[in-house]
Amino acid sequence: MSGSGKTSLVFDTVAAESQRLINETYPGFVQGFMQAPPRPDVDRLEGLTAAIVVGQEPMAASARSTFGTATDITGHLRVLFSRLAEPRAGGPAAYSFNVPSASGQGAIEVNGVKEVRRFERTGGMCPRCEGRGEVGDVDKRQLVDETLTLNDGAIMYPGMRVGSWMWRAYAESGLYPADVPVKEFTEEQKRDLYETETKVKVGGINMSYMGLVTRLKTNVLSKLVESLQKHMRAFVERAVVFVDCPECHGTRLAQHARESYLNGVSIADVCDMELADVSAWLRTINSPLAVAPLRGLEAALDLGLGYLTLARPTGTLSGGEAQRTRMVQHIGSALTDVTYVFDEPTAGLHPHDVTRMNELLLQLRDKGNTVLVVEHNPATMAIADCVVELGPGAGVAGGEILSVGAAPSVSGKVALKEEVREPTGALEIRGASHNNLKGVDVDIPLGVLTVISGVAGSGKSSLMECLPDDDRILVVDQSSLSGSRRSNPATYTGAMDALRKAFAKANDGATPGMFSFNSEGACPACSGTGVVTVEFGAMDSADVPCEVCEGRRFAADVLGYELAGKNIAEVLALPAVEAVEFCREAKVTAAKRVCEQLVAVGLGYLTLGQPLSTLSGGERQRLKLAVRLCDRKATADIIVLDEPTVGLHQKDIDTLLRLFDTLVDDHLTLICVEHHRAVLAHADHIIDLGPGAGSAGGEVVAACSPREFLDKDTLTARYLAQAL
Ligand SMILES: [Zn+2]
Ligand SMILES: [Zn+2]
Repeated sequence: MSGSGKTSLVFDTVAAESQRLINETYPGFVQGFMQAPPRPDVDRLEGLTAAIVVGQEPMAASARSTFGTATDITGHLRVLFSRLAEPRAGGPAAYSFNVPSASGQGAIEVNGVKEVRRFERTGGMCPRCEGRGEVGDVDKRQLVDETLTLNDGAIMYPGMRVGSWMWRAYAESGLYPADVPVKEFTEEQKRDLYETETKVKVGGINMSYMGLVTRLKTNVLSKLVESLQKHMRAFVERAVVFVDCPECHGTRLAQHARESYLNGVSIADVCDMELADVSAWLRTINSPLAVAPLRGLEAALDLGLGYLTLARPTGTLSGGEAQRTRMVQHIGSALTDVTYVFDEPTAGLHPHDVTRMNELLLQLRDKGNTVLVVEHNPATMAIADCVVELGPGAGVAGGEILSVGAAPSVSGKVALKEEVREPTGALEIRGASHNNLKGVDVDIPLGVLTVISGVAGSGKSSLMECLPDDDRILVVDQSSLSGSRRSNPATYTGAMDALRKAFAKANDGATPGMFSFNSEGACPACSGTGVVTVEFGAMDSADVPCEVCEGRRFAADVLGYELAGKNIAEVLALPAVEAVEFCREAKVTAAKRVCEQLVAVGLGYLTLGQPLSTLSGGERQRLKLAVRLCDRKATADIIVLDEPTVGLHQKDIDTLLRLFDTLVDDHLTLICVEHHRAVLAHADHIIDLGPGAGSAGGEVVAACSPREFLDKDTLTARYLAQAL
C-alpha cells in the first residue's frame, strides 16, 4: 500500500547501491563531476547487476529535444532521407534542425606555399528561428491599453507613468494626440506609436524617438531575460508571445530540408505525422535503412504512444509518457543482464494499454534482463514471476516484508452504485477544439462526481484545459509544490504556524520564531537542514546527518521546550494520524483540523516534518486537496482532479472514494480524469472520450450514468463491464 516502503527498498536500496558501485569504477576525476548517492543502509546485498532506473520524472525540457531525437528515430530517418530523398539536400546533418549551415574560407601556408582553403557545411537548421520552430512576437495589448488616452495612462510599458520624462517623449512627440483614445488613432498614428524610429522635440530638447514595440525589441529583447530586473522580466514574460516561425512554419528546418521528398513527403511532414502514420509510411519504403526506425516505432505503438508525433518536445510529455519514451529507448538496446527498475509503469494507462505494456515488460525479461516493478495494478502483478509485498501499514507501521512468492489473487472486481445523484446544474463546454478535440459540446453536471475517461491521448486533458478560467474552479494536479527540503506538510498546510504559537504560549520567554528551523530555531551547525555535506577532496561528497542536532534540525535549547510532553522535533516526527491525538491533547485546534484532513485524503502516514521534495506525484495531489479542504473561505466549489488514484493501493482507493462521497454530499462538484474501474463504477456521471487516440479521438463517445455506460460500445465501457 502507499507509504509502505516500496520505494525505499527498490530505489533507495537496490538501485542506489548498483549506481554507487558503477560510479566507483570511474576514475576519481570523473567521479568528482557525478552526483554521489549516499551509501544505502543495508547489511548485505548479493547478486546485484547493473541497474537502470526507468522513472517518471519529466524529460529534459530543452527546446531542442523531441520525442524523435530522444528515441533516435529521427536520427535514423535523417540517414534514410540523405540516401534516398529527391532532390538530395546533403548528408544526414542537412536534415537536422540542430545543425546550422556554415561556410568560410581563408589562406593557409603549407611548406611555404600559400593556399586558399574553403569549408562548407550544410545543416538543416532554419536560419530565421535557429531551429527552435518559434519566434518571439510582441503582444501589443500588454504595452498599451487602447481604450484609454495617453493622458489617462494608456501606456503600460514600465517606467512610463503619466507625467514622467519617458512618458512625455511619447505624449508630447506631436506624432499623435494625447487626449484621444488610442483605438481611435489612424493607421499611421498607430504605426508611429508602435514602430516608427525618428527624431522629435520635447520640451525644447531634440531627442531620438522609438515606437514602443521597436523600443522593446531593441532595448530589451536583445538581452538575456535572466539579466533583466525583476519587474522588467515579469513585463517581458507577459508581453512577448511565441508564434510559429514564419519561415519554416514551426518545422525548425531550413528550406532545402523541407523541399527534399521521399515517396511524396518531406522529413518535416514525417515529424508532424502521428507515429501510427509514420510507421505505415515507412513500410512503403523498400530499404534496409527503414528497419531500425521501424523497430523503435513498433515499440512506441505497442506502448500506446501512437498518437504522439516525432516533433513533440520532450519537455511537454507527461510523467507516464516520459517513462514509456525511456522504455522505447531501452527496448532497442543490445544490453543484457541489466536490472530494469520501473516506477508504476501503468500509472495513467488505460486498461487496454496495460496489456501491451505488460507484454513489453515480459520482452525485456526474455532478453535476459531482470525487471523490477513497483506497481499496484492487479493486471501487472498477475504476470509477475515473483511478488514481494511490503506492509502491513504505511509509514512507521510499514517497512516489513509480508510475503514473497506467487502473485496474490486479486479480484479487482467492482460494483456499481445503486443510485446516482441528481445534478444541480451544468457547466457547459461548447465547440471545444483545443488540440485533437473535434468541436466538442458537452455538459459537465454540477453537484455530482463526474469521471472523464478514455484511452491515453483521446483528449481528456485537452478537454480539461477548455474549462472556463473561473475562480469557482480549482484544478488539483500532481505538479511539484513550491518549496524544497525546507518545506514539509506542516509548513505547507499552515499547521506549523499554529503549533509554533502554541509552543511559545506554553513556554515563558519563548517566541514563535524559535520553533522554526528556517529561522531563529535552526541548529547552528547545519543551519536547520539536518544534514551536512562532507567533501572527500576530489573523490566524493555525501550528505550525512548533522552530528550536533542528530538530524533534528533544531538548536539544542529549543528542544528543551515542551508542549503537552513533546518537544517540537518530536511533534514533527509524528505521522498525521497520531498528530490528531496530540493536537487534541495540546488544544491546538487549527493544527488538529489540518491533520484530520491529511488523514481524510489518505495521507495519515506522512509525518508532519517529511520534506516535500520526497513526496510522489499522487501524494502531492492529495496534499493540495487537503489544503483546499482546510480552507473555509475557499470560493472554488468545482474541484478537478487529475488521476487521483495514481500510486494508491486498492484499500486506499476505498478511503478516497469515501472522501469523494463526503465532499459531493457537502455540495462540491468533483471532476476526475481517471481510468480506474473502481472510480468509474462509483461515478454519478461518465464522460468518455475517444473512440481512439490522437486524430482518431477527440470526440465524446458517451456521456451518461455508469449503468447506461455499460450498454455503450467503447473501449472503456468494455473494460468496466469485465470488472463487474
Ligand atoms: Zn524557422
Ligand atoms: Zn544540525
